[in-house]
Amino acid sequence: MLKLDKVSKVYRTTEVETLALNEISMEVAPGEFVAIMGPSGCGKSTLLNTLGLLDTPTSGSYEFFGEEVARRSERELTALRRDRIGFVFQSFNLIDDLTVAENVEVALLYRKVPGAERRRRVAEALERVGIGHRARHRPQQLSGGQQQRVAVARALVSEPSLILADEPTGNLDTVNGEAVMALLTEAAAAGVTVIMVTHSLAHAAVAQRTIKLLDGRVVSETLLAA
Ligand code: ADP
Ligand code: MG
Repeated sequence: MLKLDKVSKVYRTTEVETLALNEISMEVAPGEFVAIMGPSGCGKSTLLNTLGLLDTPTSGSYEFFGEEVARRSERELTALRRDRIGFVFQSFNLIDDLTVAENVEVALLYRKVPGAERRRRVAEALERVGIGHRARHRPQQLSGGQQQRVAVARALVSEPSLILADEPTGNLDTVNGEAVMALLTEAAAAGVTVIMVTHSLAHAAVAQRTIKLLDGRVVSETLLAA
């Protein structure tokens, strides 16, 4: 389970102080699929990055699958991220100099998975997202929809407990957006906790719960009717 208790995040520059998260408390159950919505600048990415241990809270506590992590060292957080979390971003974030297969394999390199098993898992993950035939291509040779499927494969290949997706369909057309949503839904059904930022009401409706943010606060939670 993920549990935030009064988590605040302040960004300070010499000029200004921004309260990006203002005492956010929330819980997410294992295997739950949660959508986060809200206007630009309301703190969605900050919340997702905090949940993903890419950003640390200024105050408050964060229990990450049973461990308090709000004030862990960067080294410990990096290890937890690699072991437990897969990320999917709006802009795909693939490495252009690597092939599709190598991009997915990167997620396993840090984890000391032996070569043969690595290749098997990469091939499996690419098949799962329907992109096996593109394994030797470069990301630039693929359409946006295909690139995002590669990014989903990269997120899935390490068998994470948590997938965090920041507007994963934001740059995609309807058909490819639906395909990416189907993959995230499938991951959640298999027991992975999925938290996704989206501007699409239709895509939020696929999640079991929608959390709405405004000015760094949770303003409402909607449960999808069963
Ligand atoms: P959203 O994803 O909902 O558009 P963000 O989480 O990116 O919102 O940003 C929330 C607020 O925090 C905004 O006012 C933004 O300008 C500010 N912010 C985000 N990241 C930083 C940063 N690294 N340094 C300073 N301010 C930031
Ligand atoms: Mg954002």
